[in-house]
Amino acid sequence: MLGRMQDWPLTVDRILDHAKSWHGDREIVSRSVEGPIVRTTYAEAHIRAKRVSNVLKGLGIGHGDRVATLAWNTARHLETWYGIMGIGAICHTLNPRLFAEQLVYIINHAEDQIIFTDLTFLPILAQIRDQIPTVKHIIVFSDDGHMSQDLPGALCYETLVNDASADCAWGGFEENTPAGLCYTSGTTGNPKGVLYSHRSNFLHTLVTMGTDVLGVSATDTVLPVVPMFHANAWGIAFSAPGVGAKLVMPGPKLDGASIHELLESEQVTFSAAVPTVWQMLLGHLRQTNGKLTSLKRVVIGGSAVPEAIVRGFRDEFGVDVTHAWGMTETSPLGTLATPNHRIAGLDAESQLKFKLKQGRPPIGIDLKLEDDEGKLLPRDGHTFGRLLVKGPFVVGEYFRGDGGQILDADGFFDTGDVATLDSDGVMQITDRSKDVIKSGGEWISSIEIENIAAGHEKAELAAVIGVFHPKWDERPLLLVKLKPGEQGTKAEFLAFLEGKIAKWWTPDDVVFVDDIPLGATGKIDKKLIRQRMADYVLPST
Ligand code: AMP
Repeated sequence: MLGRMQDWPLTVDRILDHAKSWHGDREIVSRSVEGPIVRTTYAEAHIRAKRVSNVLKGLGIGHGDRVATLAWNTARHLETWYGIMGIGAICHTLNPRLFAEQLVYIINHAEDQIIFTDLTFLPILAQIRDQIPTVKHIIVFSDDGHMSQDLPGALCYETLVNDASADCAWGGFEENTPAGLCYTSGTTGNPKGVLYSHRSNFLHTLVTMGTDVLGVSATDTVLPVVPMFHANAWGIAFSAPGVGAKLVMPGPKLDGASIHELLESEQVTFSAAVPTVWQMLLGHLRQTNGKLTSLKRVVIGGSAVPEAIVRGFRDEFGVDVTHAWGMTETSPLGTLATPNHRIAGLDAESQLKFKLKQGRPPIGIDLKLEDDEGKLLPRDGHTFGRLLVKGPFVVGEYFRGDGGQILDADGFFDTGDVATLDSDGVMQITDRSKDVIKSGGEWISSIEIENIAAGHEKAELAAVIGVFHPKWDERPLLLVKLKPGEQGTKAEFLAFLEGKIAKWWTPDDVVFVDDIPLGATGKIDKKLIRQRMADYVLPST
């Protein structure tokens, strides 16, 4: 027997349909690549998205075909997502911060047929154009007047959209139809594709709308700084229209001054970004004595949020920070550090300890911790192990089966993160499993040491890696990039760590470097650091 409710496949085109029908006059405001602020509404975006669908059909795109975007967060990019997904084609987001050869690999692996892009990225595409044979057309988000001649044969978005009919049926396919494709940043081996379904995106949207998750509402004005090209802008391109929130798209300008201008001019109440963006904003506000007159809440994730950011927002600007963890493979939101009833009862200082952790799983996400032998570890807040995750919007298999079987016998996916879980169910990342330092069979968290070292007043950036040691297998090495004009000594950095970490975690050496490299997604590139330090030998060996 089956339930007797209506058959209503969970396809994401319904989200923009809903926004058009019930929040049609709600605005989408974009900082365009050409410069000016452009205003549209969900009703207009819906019409234009349908026109995009007809453009695609006219160019021969059908069900299951891959159509890529290499673009900033703007209303045009949003329309294009829905235009692609609405007809059952697959929207493949390309990250412009990847190296050219990685883009070539990804585009060829996905067999993308069309790429929608901004004027900004034409030089990258011109450089790789003859290496991506499956791509039949490149469509530039521009009007005729701004079209560039940098890439011969490229088509003009506005001309195509204006000439296309807005009459196009969306949906009508099975909810497990693929909707989106996003490749992992590939710090080890080739990037692998995560193929989201309409159903997984729809469920992720419903879950992230929850009050303890993103909790955006129809009364919010939402500014996603998190790019649509990396981990789906944390689902905001679905959740904001889903609730009818006003959407403010920052386009190409992500510096402190530009973000501040939009936060104030559009009276933004909610925003989301990685820590470096907020660091730049706070720096700008302090320099200019700027104010935040409408912002209430920011969600910060992608890498661990430093305490100084949480305190800065809270104490200087009255803005609440929610720390979040997730990954491309989890659609991406996995946990959020919103308080449960017990934590909510604590005073602000005691709550801070929890706010700095990565948070609790919402419905739809299950977590477990295991040691290297697969033994389940306790939720005691200090034992750390491999973090595994399971749920309806977690990857089951990579695109084209790359990497083979990736789930354990119970259907859990190994995140590659090392974490603790406490008795409140709050998770804290202590490392990536490939970065954790294995010293005499015990694990040392490289991230914990580098976060503390980065808090030294002379440090601009700090990184910790494990280096070979004949007795202990590996010992920690601290690399420090000093602020301009500063001088530092090994002794003062080791003294700074004393009492803040276990004695046996103390780095065996401190090396001052001119550069700590960051990868395409803004995280410290430890693979490159390890390569650079390949010939380094600890003084103790
Ligand atoms: P990506 O798939 O590129 O978004 O990278 C996902 C990875 O980023 C996770 O597996 C974590 O290692 C890291 N990450 C994401 N959010 C956080 C966070 N709040 N704190 C620490 N690491 C994080």
